[in-house]
Amino acid sequence: MKKENIPKLLNIQDLVINLKEKEKAFIDKKQEYEKFKKEKLELINLKEEEIRVLEKDIKNLKDNQREREDKVSSLKDKYQDEEKKALTIKNPKEALHLEKEMENLKGQIRRLEDEILDILLELEEKNKFYSEYKKELSKFKEEFSLEIEKYEKELKELREEIELISLEIEKNKKEIPMEEFLEFENLMRQKSNRAISKVINKEVCEGCKLSLPKVILDRLKKKEEIVYCPNCGRILWIES
Ligand SMILES: [Zn+2]
Repeated sequence: MKKENIPKLLNIQDLVINLKEKEKAFIDKKQEYEKFKKEKLELINLKEEEIRVLEKDIKNLKDNQREREDKVSSLKDKYQDEEKKALTIKNPKEALHLEKEMENLKGQIRRLEDEILDILLELEEKNKFYSEYKKELSKFKEEFSLEIEKYEKELKELREEIELISLEIEKNKKEIPMEEFLEFENLMRQKSNRAISKVINKEVCEGCKLSLPKVILDRLKKKEEIVYCPNCGRILWIES
């Protein structure tokens, strides 16, 4: 490896570190997105199921209402018939019997009408819930699709950034002889993407955070050869 290529390699190293961070951010964001989508879709299904149950309840109540209304109307017809019949009856015993029957019919009609009233009250309540649930669900879906849009946009931006950095790395790579680059790449793999380590605070290796012996620092300052950190084995670089 040639010393003059180290600044270029250091630049590539920064790009690679940035690339890895962006790739991780992309994976994390994607996982978060999938989790978000799954949870919200489950909730939407649940809300839709609640609405379906309410729809069924409402339908049943309406059927019950209709059934009772039909009964009431046929009982009323019967009552009218008996009213007419009552006008023609002379026999007191028969008249009494008819009167009792008419009372009985009236009682049945009253009971059914009370039931219809209860059904109407229940229907009113269910209809209220139904329209509230519907409204809630459509608002929820609206918010959900906005969130989806936001996630998609963020993922797209990260993808574009990753692509740009990759292109930049490829461009910079061309300026380094192949053999040197392979050596650098190999060291990058071994040293968790930090093959080259800057000297910070005048004497500390940034890679392993240990102070460097004076003899190493002197060799480094001469800038004649490539100097490795005796502790972590990274190529050392000192800004001039
Ligand atoms: Zn070190």
